[in-house]
Amino acid sequence: MRRTRNAKIVATLGPASSDPQVVRQLFLAGVDVFRLNFSHGTADDHRRRFDGLRALEQETGRAIGIMADLQGPKLRVGVFADGPVMLAEGAAFRLDLDAAAGNSSRVNLPHPEIFAALVPGAELLLDDGKLRLKVERCGADFAETRVQVGGRLSERKGVNVPGVVLPITALTEKDRRDLALALELGVDWIALSFVQRPEDVVEARELIGDRAAIIVKLEKPAGLERLEEITELADAIMVARGDLGVEMPAEQVPAIQKRMIRTCRRLGKPVVVATQMLESMIKSPVPTRAEASDVATAIYDGADAVMLSAESAAGDYPVEAVKMMNRIIEQVEADPMYRQLIDASYSEVAADGDVAEAICSAVRTVVAKLHAAAIVCYTSSGHTSLRTARERPEAPILSLTPKIETARRLAMAWGVQSVHIADVSDVTEMTDRACSVARSEGFANDGELIVAIAGMPFGTPGTTNLMRIAAV
Ligand code: PGA
Ligand code: MN
Repeated sequence: MRRTRNAKIVATLGPASSDPQVVRQLFLAGVDVFRLNFSHGTADDHRRRFDGLRALEQETGRAIGIMADLQGPKLRVGVFADGPVMLAEGAAFRLDLDAAAGNSSRVNLPHPEIFAALVPGAELLLDDGKLRLKVERCGADFAETRVQVGGRLSERKGVNVPGVVLPITALTEKDRRDLALALELGVDWIALSFVQRPEDVVEARELIGDRAAIIVKLEKPAGLERLEEITELADAIMVARGDLGVEMPAEQVPAIQKRMIRTCRRLGKPVVVATQMLESMIKSPVPTRAEASDVATAIYDGADAVMLSAESAAGDYPVEAVKMMNRIIEQVEADPMYRQLIDASYSEVAADGDVAEAICSAVRTVVAKLHAAAIVCYTSSGHTSLRTARERPEAPILSLTPKIETARRLAMAWGVQSVHIADVSDVTEMTDRACSVARSEGFANDGELIVAIAGMPFGTPGTTNLMRIAAV
């Protein structure tokens, strides 16, 4: 049961999708990468879900990607003595390091680093931006604010400080513990939340090494300002529109999304569009027209993947949400305008003497001229397949790899379908294998052409230097 679409689906597991039968249905409905959200759930929950996914992979024989999403430095207020409080516009409200329960004039904000970085005039957004406070006076352990937009505030609500680069790393103590668990389990992708600077990615990479790939969630203005550098350092990028839409005005999110997709496509890094894509399907079996259009826009723009959060983790219709996403993607990709738009947004790279670059970009043209049925990439690290996916070629990319880890990571990449195979030793064997897998996987019929690319000697990463055209 191979997929026939290019764009991939990422779905978050949660209470609504813990039953192995539901997970199985989600996979059959089209999920390529499953996300374990470390902002919720216990270590046991994550372990159980992880083991279930690996068992499902074994059963279906299809590589399944698993992403561990670390909470990151999500700031939260403390608790209130007598339940939620009402903050009136124009009122004074104090935040401080005092752990005592709060009231309508003050509350605990247990983050000394924040007080150190605040300046008068800075804005604090509470509860996903519903409430807005302006700092008037502040010190090492307090901030006195004026309520700009009031409302109800309950305990442990999130705090965003959009205008300030916070002197905090992207990994909290909790993240470090969660990361250790995720790496022990053997997840394929680690998602880093609230990344602000390139150094945050470097720091995470030092801890992770090559044990997992890194997807950076861009959800703060500071991170966006360094989009290029961060994208170069990351293995993939997530357009994390939830917090992004709190930290920036909502009307700026569409343009930012397009800029992020464009940058990632140019640099050849997978990009995932996330949050509220089919939000109304948390409670309804059908999406709004606007939501269907939102998913379609990401696909027309050439995103590698679209993501479900609460829809699949905590909604009433997790499987229906995946089926809907799958159908929207298939519709878009069948539209002749899809190819026109993908081609129009393609950007050439200067290969600059780089053989692998030259071959992978030539594949795009060769496939179009020959109407080849498939591209077959032999890859150990996954680089050849990813580099080919960057070209957004017209034929599907069949990625053959002896490393299951590579197949799992590539589950997130546009157009790449992986098959785990034993190593090959020479070009004849490679060509024979490429033809037979392309036929058995339903990529090519007898007599159709395939374009195979590989690096000689086989199994040495980064040596892509061979293109072979063969008839199945
Ligand atoms: P979250 O990240 O769901 O972990 O908050 C995604 C987002 O902010 O959009
Ligand atoms: Mn977020």
